[in-house]
Amino acid sequence: MTSAWSSGGPLCLKVWTCFFSLAVFRTHCIPANEVNLLDSRSVMGDLGWIAYPKNGWEEIGEVDENYAPIHTYQVCKVMEHNQNNWLQTNLIVTEGAQRVFVELQFTLRDCNSLPGGVGTCKETFNMYYYESNDEEGRNIRESHYSKVDTIAADESFTELDLGDRVMKLNTEVRDLGPLTKKGFYLAFQDLGACIALVSVRVFYKRCPSVVKNLAQFQDTITGSDSSQLLEVAGSCVNNSVAEDLPRMHCSAEGEWLVPIGKCVCQVGFEELNGSCQECRLGFFRSVLQNPTCSKCPPHSFTRVQGATSCSCEEGYYKTDTDPPNMACTRPPSAPRNAISNVNETSVFLEWAVPEETGGRKDVRYNIRCRKISVDSRRYEECGSAVRFLPQRSGLRDNSVMVVDLLAHTNYTFEVEAINGVSELTNPGRQFVSLNVTTNQAAPSPVSVVRKGKSGKNSISLSWQKPDRPNGIILEYEIKYFEKDQETSYTIIKSKETEILADALKPSSVYIFQIRARTSAGYGGFSRRFEFETSPYCKDQLGTLWSDLELCGGITEKCVLSLLKVKFPGVRTYIDPHTYEDPNQAVHEFTQEIDVSCITIERVIGAGEFGEVCSGPLRLTGKREFPVAIKTLKAGYSEQQRRDFLGEASIMGQFDHPNIIHLEGVVTKSKPVMIITEFMENGSLDTFLKKNDGQFTVIQLVGMLRGIASGMKYLSDMGYVHRDLAARNILVNSNLVCKVSDFGLSRVLEDDAEAAYTTRGGKIPIRWTAPEAIAFRKFTSASDVWSYGIVMWEVMSYGERPYWEMSNQDVIKAVEDSYRLPGPMDCPAALYHLMMDCWQKDRNSRPKFEEIVSLLDKLIRNPSSLKALVNSSHSSMYASVGLREGSGHQSVGEWLEGIKMGRYNELFMETGYTSLEVVAHMTLE
Ligand code: AMP
Repeated sequence: MTSAWSSGGPLCLKVWTCFFSLAVFRTHCIPANEVNLLDSRSVMGDLGWIAYPKNGWEEIGEVDENYAPIHTYQVCKVMEHNQNNWLQTNLIVTEGAQRVFVELQFTLRDCNSLPGGVGTCKETFNMYYYESNDEEGRNIRESHYSKVDTIAADESFTELDLGDRVMKLNTEVRDLGPLTKKGFYLAFQDLGACIALVSVRVFYKRCPSVVKNLAQFQDTITGSDSSQLLEVAGSCVNNSVAEDLPRMHCSAEGEWLVPIGKCVCQVGFEELNGSCQECRLGFFRSVLQNPTCSKCPPHSFTRVQGATSCSCEEGYYKTDTDPPNMACTRPPSAPRNAISNVNETSVFLEWAVPEETGGRKDVRYNIRCRKISVDSRRYEECGSAVRFLPQRSGLRDNSVMVVDLLAHTNYTFEVEAINGVSELTNPGRQFVSLNVTTNQAAPSPVSVVRKGKSGKNSISLSWQKPDRPNGIILEYEIKYFEKDQETSYTIIKSKETEILADALKPSSVYIFQIRARTSAGYGGFSRRFEFETSPYCKDQLGTLWSDLELCGGITEKCVLSLLKVKFPGVRTYIDPHTYEDPNQAVHEFTQEIDVSCITIERVIGAGEFGEVCSGPLRLTGKREFPVAIKTLKAGYSEQQRRDFLGEASIMGQFDHPNIIHLEGVVTKSKPVMIITEFMENGSLDTFLKKNDGQFTVIQLVGMLRGIASGMKYLSDMGYVHRDLAARNILVNSNLVCKVSDFGLSRVLEDDAEAAYTTRGGKIPIRWTAPEAIAFRKFTSASDVWSYGIVMWEVMSYGERPYWEMSNQDVIKAVEDSYRLPGPMDCPAALYHLMMDCWQKDRNSRPKFEEIVSLLDKLIRNPSSLKALVNSSHSSMYASVGLREGSGHQSVGEWLEGIKMGRYNELFMETGYTSLEVVAHMTLE
């Protein structure tokens, strides 16, 4: 083998290597951000690299001063032509790095220094690489390799240099990437230079694991690109939490850059040297915003390390809203030095702040006011009539004005001090108390004055007692004068709360003022009330004159009907039909209810127009109460809507405890509804059938009395019901019966009991008086007939009148003076009343007023109900109204009396010759 080295002699090489051992191998330290994949200097045994041709690169094994082996590859075929010497490393596994660095240390000989002159001598060599996933080794062809670079020496050396023992060692670094396979081979190509490859170090760069801002960042291999920044998420160290997810960026140079976000120690911990330590005893950390643990505020402590809050010492407290660094506090002591200043019925109370405010600034005061009874034995709370200015509780200032107290009365006031922690403690109330006696005081002004009737020369007035009389009112003084004539006023006095001011001018406005007097003197005058007298008129009825002319002159009927309409107290039913627009009647007589006030809970029945439901009604300012809700089903015609609401317009005019009460209507939304009071026991007929025999006679009479009273009211109002029947009476939970089912003529159309008569129109035959069936003469007297039938229904617990007889037979039987027999166990007095109601001559029937007073009498005198009608309910005696003590002497006389004289012969023939026998005759 011929080489440039051999020309220099072995000694030369030896010196050179020794030099390396001192200059190059002294330290093996590498920076923390570099990870070696190969370091030829640290390989102990044979490197095992492949050189070809065989006489090209050769390995020179040496040892350093520590006898560690040194691998050096040399080639120096500068004298020969066409050199192409390859040296190939073993597979270098990348360990996931995409970009690796190759650091070469070599010496290169200066061609000029060589004996043969320039010749074929080169001063460079080439470096290649080849990526592979497995050990292909010798099978890699030159053409497979990719060139990394041509490497030239910064310094080459001459023999002279060697002689001077100055070694020119070159270090060159090149990088490869992006690498995608498991590993790669490096190859060094020599084309005729004199090179000694002293070391090859292959490494990649990484950002080494680090803790920054309490976040741990793991080792991170740099990216494949020299300008790439890899974003890496950190994880919070123990006992810390991410305030904002911590991140950093790993640069291609293996440096961590641009930290974002951070972790903070969780509460109860604080940061110390990059980790989180528990707060010491007596310290706490309650919020993340505070960087460090704080000392517990006054009157508080901790029992353990790592506290997130401090506990209050006994007797000290904290509210939920007190900040954590605020001291624990206590309730205040009582207010001090309370004084009072009485002015008639007002008291001004003042006090000094408590000695002990408990360490808080939120001290407030509450006042308790009690009245002491005359005998000083009882205390009573003052109640809401007494006013506190500015307020009664939560006072910030240490004074209060108490007004509207009673005159001449002893009071006790307690001024209590509280603060934010008073509610948390139970030490008893801290208050100072004061006894005060109010003075004599004049009455407060009269505030409510009403005008009664006014004539052309007089006005009657009434008023309410002052809210605070402050004593016994001895009299009232009424001052009045004609408007704008204040100088000539009149004063009258009255012990009552009403007067008639007379000798006034007609059609004039008068001003009235009233004041009350007690032993303490006069109170202030009321505000001014203005009232006007009536105008002149042509007769005693004053303004009614023009109405009278319209209605047809001063006939009794006309005057009475006008009086009913015009004078308060006598109200008349107004037929909604008289309104051109029926909606106007709805508007006038009913109240619109917002649908949101109603909750429908149950369906309780079926009405003609839709379902009947029940549920609570909640009106503003009123307690919730149950109501019945009648709905108008969808798809109705305008006529049906009018008829449906017609019932409400009628009902809305009534106000009586035995008439079903209208709460209001819903017309502004759908479905349209009528809201009435809720009657828990539903309709009377069903209710009676369900409770057959369950009630005492007095209870039944009580129900009848209610119905009669409701009917009296209706007849007084001029309303004829036309369909009075037990099915149209509703019963509430107290067994109060109320008349319902109002309508116009349509009521009869809706009633399943109503049948068409020969004259047209539908009539509930069994309940209707003969004249109403025959020629539609519906009056309060025909309602009385129906009432008699209702009595019969009630006393027979819902039995069907005339049982299964056909309507035609009923009409005929009634025409023929047949009457329903007395129900079983029915008191005779009641049956007599029923029979009276069924008098053929409607003028002979009792009026509802008489029925009510008769029933009242019976109730007051229950023994009058003892006598029962003959228990056989089909007794003809009863059915034809043969009454005890009716004065009839013979059967013939009796039959004449009931206009059945034509049957006299028949009676005699069949053996009913005496009243005694007739009384025991049965229907069969
Ligand atoms: P009406 O259409 O008025 O005949 O009502 C039909 C049914 O609903 C009645 O027979 C009762 O059972 C029931 N009903 C009607 N109004 C009320 C109410 N105010 N309270 C309780 N139930 C009622």
